[in-house]
Amino acid sequence: MHNASPIPIELGTIICKHCMSVIGTIDSEKVTLYYSECPDRDCINSRINFDKKEYDANLRLEG
Ligand SMILES: [Zn+2]
Repeated sequence: MHNASPIPIELGTIICKHCMSVIGTIDSEKVTLYYSECPDRDCINSRINFDKKEYDANLRLEG
């Protein structure tokens, strides 16, 4: 992965809504940002206290 410089906006870019890191890209008909949650352990630990339920729900949406 070479995501050092500006976020490589493709059509659909999925970013972590907590730490803003790029999770991945998906095909989309227009440039769109999708907010999800990354699997990074530190990020999980930082958010697990306040939105655990939402995190559990979003896990099912990840490929
Ligand atoms: Zn994150």
